[in-house]
Amino acid sequence: MAAGMNTSSVHVCKYLLPQNKERTVYDGFIESLGQEFHLRVELPVNKDLKFSRIHCDAKLATILRGSLPIIRTRLQQCQQLSAFLEELRSLVDSAVRTNKMFESLSTAPALYGKLINEISIVKWDRVVDIDECFQKVKLQTIDSSAREHYISVHISSQYPNEAPECSTDLPSEFSLQWNSKMSLVDVLQQFDKAVERHQTFWNVLDEIDKSTWVLEPEKPCRKDAARRIALGNNASIQIVVNPLHPTQLPECRFLGADQTIKPLRDNMNRSLQMWDSSKSVLSNLQELMNITFPSPISSKKEDFCSECSICYLYRLDGAIPDKVCKFPACNKAFHQICLYEWLRSLPTSNQSLSKYGFKNIYGECPYCSQPITVRQEDK
Ligand SMILES: [Zn+2]
Ligand SMILES: [Zn+2]
Repeated sequence: MAAGMNTSSVHVCKYLLPQNKERTVYDGFIESLGQEFHLRVELPVNKDLKFSRIHCDAKLATILRGSLPIIRTRLQQCQQLSAFLEELRSLVDSAVRTNKMFESLSTAPALYGKLINEISIVKWDRVVDIDECFQKVKLQTIDSSAREHYISVHISSQYPNEAPECSTDLPSEFSLQWNSKMSLVDVLQQFDKAVERHQTFWNVLDEIDKSTWVLEPEKPCRKDAARRIALGNNASIQIVVNPLHPTQLPECRFLGADQTIKPLRDNMNRSLQMWDSSKSVLSNLQELMNITFPSPISSKKEDFCSECSICYLYRLDGAIPDKVCKFPACNKAFHQICLYEWLRSLPTSNQSLSKYGFKNIYGECPYCSQPITVRQEDK
């Protein structure tokens, strides 16, 4: 493998220079965050990197601690010296950074040493973030469908006697089974299992996100079980998928213009018993309502995002205009809050308290003067 002999390989560590004319021994310094460490790499004369050796000074060896065996393995696996040096460089940087934090902390050094060791076992490439006090570690996992998931692990000074607190992007609660002999490796293993249990849930939602216009949430997270899907102009369906039974009939709520949603709701109510859990939620919904949802292939999202006819915005404090005038010729959409404030300001509007405790306000549509109602609780 000639790459080991290539002088361009040394540019990553500019002070690492060949020591013999065969260019099999490199010696010099690696610089990281203002500190210099002595490093020597010996390549075998037959140029097979598998038999390479690496030596570093005591200071760097202490900082790298448990990572040295990994570094040696990586050197042996690397096809090119330059690739290895780049990898070594980033490993040294992150270890030096961690070590600086470690040195600046006066309490419980044993705990931080333990955590550094645990992290090198779960591998640094699964660590997305560590806070400065070394109390929050954010770890990443990639599931069998190449989706990324994250878990934030909050470590107290009583760790590992006290279980770490975890927050995840799972749609259901993640309850960590813990005892004081466990480590971050166990946290990740349990998280990986929980992630795999939700594969069907994410398949269901990924299909919806890909094939329909999702109006809300604006940017769905992995934990979001609700989607508001465009059915037509000013008409949508809000569904909430059950994370534990993702292919069962989700909670459904129709929103928007009555003349558009009534036939769809009637179709659905008539054929609920046809729901087939072996099919995807999207196919079931389309079959039951007897429609094809508007899709990104055949339509533009703007077609389903009419602005509010009072404030002329689409999104107002996160809300979208989902109150629609029932009069077909008008069909204007309003934010609940805009319509509520508008009606309240008119002397002709009436308010009443429903038997469920909601305050309804009745008045006239600002555009067509047909009767329109809005509920205060919804604003
Ligand atoms: Zn508005
Ligand atoms: Zn109207």
